[in-house]
Amino acid sequence: MTTLQRIELQCPVCDTRFVSQSVVATNAFGGKRTDFHERAAGTQPLPYLVHMCNRCGYSGSERDFSEEVEPSAVVKEHVWNELAPALARAIVQSSGSDDHRDMVQMTGSAKYEAAAKVAEWQSMDPRYIADFYLRAAWCCVDEGDTEAERFFRRKAAWMFERALSSFDGVAREERCVITYLIGELWRRVGDASQAARWFAHVPEEVMDPGTQQWIVDAALQQDQCPREWFG
Ligand SMILES: [Zn+2]
Repeated sequence: MTTLQRIELQCPVCDTRFVSQSVVATNAFGGKRTDFHERAAGTQPLPYLVHMCNRCGYSGSERDFSEEVEPSAVVKEHVWNELAPALARAIVQSSGSDDHRDMVQMTGSAKYEAAAKVAEWQSMDPRYIADFYLRAAWCCVDEGDTEAERFFRRKAAWMFERALSSFDGVAREERCVITYLIGELWRRVGDASQAARWFAHVPEEVMDPGTQQWIVDAALQQDQCPREWFG
């Protein structure tokens, strides 16, 4: 079972206090997709590992709401100019008025997209931003929104590519698995030639054949006879 708990957070942009839900415990009994999307039995934890302020739209992990976080004036301006209006539109769309902000639950993908934007404005590492976009895509699978899923998969792939091309953007021992993941993201977007190109790069990124051969095997499998799930 996935267990959630109510937490109170304070927004570092607008100081609003609001209640969110976080994950106390979860499981991986639902298996793992070949893009590393781990599934829980019961409630999926992903939408509750990211939080959004219901006044200005600032978003991030629980840590991004801790006291020591002080967004710069530029970040705050971006939040007010882009996230706040988008949030207001979403609230009116889902409840018909602006009176019930506390009641509106934003989708996981919307929260992760906002968190990715905040991370970009804060000039975080591409690797860190890519992870938010990847999670947004995973949430879209559960939300049944294939168009948005492809959009976020592309964003994630580009951001992981940027991470790989920057000096020290990805730890040496992690390059192999990220290269595979980029291939798998393009495959799931439907771009077979980009996917094949990235899968072909996987062997040259291997550092330790003893522990990383499975990644080479996975790349070969996904290139030639793709599977939806690992195991
Ligand atoms: Zn706020």
